Amino acid sequence: MGRMTDVRGGVYPFCRACTASSTAWRAPDSATRLSGIGSRFYGHRDVCPDCGSSVRTLYSTFLLVPVARRGRYRIIRTGGRSYVGRRLLDRPAAVPNPPSLEEPPSEFKNHPELVDATYEEAEARWAARDSAGALPLYETSLAACEKVLKADDPATLQVRLRVAQVLLATGDYASAIGWFELITPQLVRVFGEEHDLTRIAVEGVTGAQLMVGGPRAEMKLLSGLLDEDEKTLGRQHPKVLRTRGALGRVTMFAGQLGVAVQVLEMTLADGIEGLGADHPDTETFRSSLLEACDLADDRGKKKDRELSAAARHRWTLAPKAN
Ligand SMILES: [Zn+2]
Repeated sequence: MGRMTDVRGGVYPFCRACTASSTAWRAPDSATRLSGIGSRFYGHRDVCPDCGSSVRTLYSTFLLVPVARRGRYRIIRTGGRSYVGRRLLDRPAAVPNPPSLEEPPSEFKNHPELVDATYEEAEARWAARDSAGALPLYETSLAACEKVLKADDPATLQVRLRVAQVLLATGDYASAIGWFELITPQLVRVFGEEHDLTRIAVEGVTGAQLMVGGPRAEMKLLSGLLDEDEKTLGRQHPKVLRTRGALGRVTMFAGQLGVAVQVLEMTLADGIEGLGADHPDTETFRSSLLEACDLADDRGKKKDRELSAAARHRWTLAPKAN
């Protein structure tokens, strides 16, 4: 397990090479097995010496008889019948980067004091697979950045992404999900959907969610972290805000739309109070709340729609244009 928790450079727990030759994939819902239709892996080859994944072929099955080949996957067992998988690409690796657009401007160059040994030391430890050693150094660098740069300055976002990656590599899924959920929309806005940094964040949160094992498990994990941190850090601490924001989002993905609206309202209120109304993180919480309201209006029950209407009124969130 020591090796598994520190595989570097790929989407956890896959190594860099296995990540490059595959793409994110969510395992089929096991509930369909009840109807006799299911899926099953066959074969077991090309075991990777770095991450221990192996190539298996997925077949659709009917009453346990394979009927159709659905593709090849890299699989790592995570105990019992559970596993994480990535779909193999037909044409592996070397996907050319899109023609590089101009990088967004950063205020970093105006703050020479930010160029110190801490970040370099953190990068060295990360490269040497010492995530536990790298984490406090990245956190120190991030605190220095956030003191003088905006939370969504390109330089700040890059350090934030590193912190999220390191938390994921150390197996702290709840904290990693909190960061990834917060920074992904910021990365999309600042760098664009297609940028490498955005892709790393999307892969990261997918990987963390796969490891946790579904929205319900994720809700439980995030609630546990929230209870713990709220007592010691208070409701408006940035980490508590991140965790509550992520809890609101996963509650939304789990289909509990009214509850999601309430959790995200609380996050927004505390964000305004703790960070300020126009802080980039507060903006992200506001967007999440709006998303939950839109979903509640479209798909919610009467109670969900009432909660959405009240939230829109309180926070002056315009209904979606039809
Ligand atoms: Zn591997």
